[in-house]
Amino acid sequence: MNILLATPEAVPFAKTGGLADVCGALPVELARLGHRVSLIMPAYRKARYSGIPHEPLDIHFIVPIGSKMVSGRLLRSRIPGTDVDVYLVDQDQYFDRDQLYGVNGEDYVDNCERFVFFARAVLESVRLLDLNVDVLHANDWQTGLIPAYLKIEYARAPRYEQIACLLTLHNMAYQGRFWHWDMLLTGLDWKYFNWRQMEYHGKLNLLKTGIIYADTINTVSPRYAQEIQSAPLGCGLEGVLQHRRDAMYGILNGIDPDEWNPATDPELAANYDEQTVLEGKPVCKRALQQEFGLPEEPDVPLLGFIGRLAEQKGIDLVAEVAQRWVQSHEAQWVLLGTGNPKYERLFRALADRFPRKVAARLEFSNPLAHRIEAGADMFLMPSRYEPCGLNQLYSLRYGTVPVVRATGGLADTITGVPEGAADPGEANGFVFSEYSPLALDETLGRACEAYHNRPFWRKLIATGMGQDWSWARSAAEYVNLYETTMERTRQTVGV
Ligand code: ADP
Repeated sequence: MNILLATPEAVPFAKTGGLADVCGALPVELARLGHRVSLIMPAYRKARYSGIPHEPLDIHFIVPIGSKMVSGRLLRSRIPGTDVDVYLVDQDQYFDRDQLYGVNGEDYVDNCERFVFFARAVLESVRLLDLNVDVLHANDWQTGLIPAYLKIEYARAPRYEQIACLLTLHNMAYQGRFWHWDMLLTGLDWKYFNWRQMEYHGKLNLLKTGIIYADTINTVSPRYAQEIQSAPLGCGLEGVLQHRRDAMYGILNGIDPDEWNPATDPELAANYDEQTVLEGKPVCKRALQQEFGLPEEPDVPLLGFIGRLAEQKGIDLVAEVAQRWVQSHEAQWVLLGTGNPKYERLFRALADRFPRKVAARLEFSNPLAHRIEAGADMFLMPSRYEPCGLNQLYSLRYGTVPVVRATGGLADTITGVPEGAADPGEANGFVFSEYSPLALDETLGRACEAYHNRPFWRKLIATGMGQDWSWARSAAEYVNLYETTMERTRQTVGV
């Protein structure tokens, strides 16, 4: 199968979120499965100076953007260590900037124009690079126009008419909404600016456009695919998603099994695997306690949290429960994250007042994230919503028991210990449903009780460590979905 993955970001070229991890890892696995896959993304300044070699191709093109013609060219690189081609769309005025989408919390004012250009460039590249594409896999709002152009402008063009298009939705909270005059930039007729196609409450909505025109759509977990078909998680597009529910799928993201492997992780005080976790993990826990200035108590449960300090992540619940527990429970809290200044202040103050129980690092540190995953006994993810979530998967691999709220990918990956169970059975963590501090408090209470029941805890750890959440599994599911997408190509929404 020939696959072209169009994405606004991919590791190791440029990253602002989990989308980049997916788009960096999935093509490698697809190639390993024997498919021909290449990736196309903007040549941001970060991508050009990422240190990964690239070469200019002698391929220049001009596309219409509103009433002007804009030129660009293609650079070629590779995903390091693989032969997966990466085409970088080079256009200095649009992409030679400090950041990907904006600075100081403000989006760049010409984001619509930048990604109209990118979408048109992707389609022109198919012809210019002489690519045979069976499936064009688009990602998030930045690529939402690609399926629309395919259906409207390229529908009967040789080489394009057979291309099937999948759009992956990584987070419904980001939709690419622009004022209606930006419709002119797309070059598409105003007749498409209506509530059934490209318009949403008077604005141009690029994610909605992609959802309408793609042959199939998927999200990064089956549960999130269901949840976004109603409010509030559909973020206003629940009706559109219901309309397209026959074409909607959910595929969990995977983890990079080389980067997140406790047996080889160079950041850890001791390496361990399923067989040696009971010796290795206590060493990592002691090292973490030392590093964070907590008392070296082997039998006090150590609770970890890593992530953006945003309400999406349930940080308000963690804050409330931690404030109560420091007064009443023998437990240690380790928090790593940045975000909402209110929570940064709160955790800093809590760590100052209770240095024997709470440690907070308000920074972004990948090495620390690895050491927390290894050293903690439990990992908290009480998210309000979670399209997929990666930390719970890292936790399972590191023998750290996840305590999660049943939403999105968390619900799909974590099986909770039933209340009052004498044996964990198939469970790999603790799960609660209601978004409340009380529910987290109770569930954490149950988890801490189970922690002191050694055989019970050992079984929980073994179940989690024995599971496979690697990309290899997810990539096979994408291959099936690509096949389904190709089959559906001729049956998509009429234009
Ligand atoms: P999201 O993409 O919504 O932020 P995910 O759980 O899907 O959440 O992925 C977030 C990734 O970023 C995880 O790998 C997590 O460990 C990492 N991360 C988040 N905050 C930090 C931090 N402060 N330091 C190190 N890694 C972090």
